[in-house]
Amino acid sequence: MIQNVLKISLLVCVCVYGVQAHAQAPFLLIENVTLIDGTGAAPVEGASVLIEGNRFAAVSKGPLSVPAGTPRVDGTGKFLIPGIIDSHVHVPGGRTGPGNRTLVSQPEVGIPVMEGLLYAGVTAVYDSGNNAPYITMMRADERAGRIRSPRIYTTVSLIAPPEGHGCCAGGTVVHDYADGVEKLDAIFAMKPDLLKFTRERRGMGPMGRNMPLIPIDLMTQLVAYAHDHGIRTTVHVSEVELAREAMQAGADAFAHTIYLDAANADFAKEAAAAGVIFSSTMTRIEADTAFLDEPLFVATVPEATRRAIKVSERFGGSAYTGWLSSLRPAIMQNIKFLYDSGVTIAMGTDRTMGAMAHQEMEILVEAGIPPIDAIRMGTLNAAAYIGVEAELGSIEPGKLADMVLLTADPTVDIHNTTLIDAVYKGGKRVDRSSLDVPANQH
Ligand SMILES: [Zn+2]
Repeated sequence: MIQNVLKISLLVCVCVYGVQAHAQAPFLLIENVTLIDGTGAAPVEGASVLIEGNRFAAVSKGPLSVPAGTPRVDGTGKFLIPGIIDSHVHVPGGRTGPGNRTLVSQPEVGIPVMEGLLYAGVTAVYDSGNNAPYITMMRADERAGRIRSPRIYTTVSLIAPPEGHGCCAGGTVVHDYADGVEKLDAIFAMKPDLLKFTRERRGMGPMGRNMPLIPIDLMTQLVAYAHDHGIRTTVHVSEVELAREAMQAGADAFAHTIYLDAANADFAKEAAAAGVIFSSTMTRIEADTAFLDEPLFVATVPEATRRAIKVSERFGGSAYTGWLSSLRPAIMQNIKFLYDSGVTIAMGTDRTMGAMAHQEMEILVEAGIPPIDAIRMGTLNAAAYIGVEAELGSIEPGKLADMVLLTADPTVDIHNTTLIDAVYKGGKRVDRSSLDVPANQH
């Protein structure tokens, strides 16, 4: 405790020194707030959080003394969580048509979606497969501040075998090691944040055909090649045995939870020991679309889009969804079993809607995971999935100041993450009233 106090006062001193050195360094103090820092630690009432520039400078369990004139936000009765991170999205505007096989570049399609994510408190996303020139342009535009968007991380292009899952919607097909190295070099030149492979033989559907897989020896070599270049890997997988093989090939993460069979104890133990992280993607199994009429969906997703989703093949309208949702109880059990076994789970939707990230956390809680850990999955664990946990994902000194101020306690009811008072990205308050979302169209 004493050590904590010393650490905090030292940080404040550094800040004060910072003021003298750089007269413009902006400060912001959020005081008397209930802090839920994203690490899974118990909420702290009456906390103070000091931001200097775009980073958290100090966090205190009580009041903080700060430079005179520091702007203050009264957090009384409010709850502060880190900015929400979705570890599995596909930014719209890069692909279109049947099977997403036509590659396009339509930022006018993607930007309103990104503004909707920001409105809903999602401050970072990992794009799990897209049209490489489009997604890298969007990432560059976000980093340069040219668009209002969550921080964008991306695989650039995913790696698939000929005719395999994801091959033909902007994916990169690899034939053998020499071919793979040449193509990975081209992708590395575009700086992937986390490289995705696919390992799927069922086609993820009731009529699932036998899809080819990348030979495991080739995947092992290419994962090692990525690691040699400092690039972590994630794998689309839906079955235990294929996940186990990918894990033994050195994969760092999985783009989905296990959908098609039961995660057994041996597998869970191996996954926990390997430290692999699963992206949850539970909203994929939602056939009941009543949640699309909840306030945050209405505020951020245009009515025509919500209507289209209700009858689309991915939700209520097809054999595909009916089949997937019939697996719902088993999938819920799997995720809880992995969680109980000490496997790290990151919140991810595979849906690319801000409100859906909240829905995903609700499903995690429905599966039996405590709200405080569902929040960790939607913040620190999702940052770890992407590999940016040193910079993002929790409210701790030194990290980028992405955070969401809520008007009700999300540890009592996870649905309260949707009751948003303010969103901050890089220490700056997002002007939610100016974002291109239905809530602002009068
Ligand atoms: Zn996906």
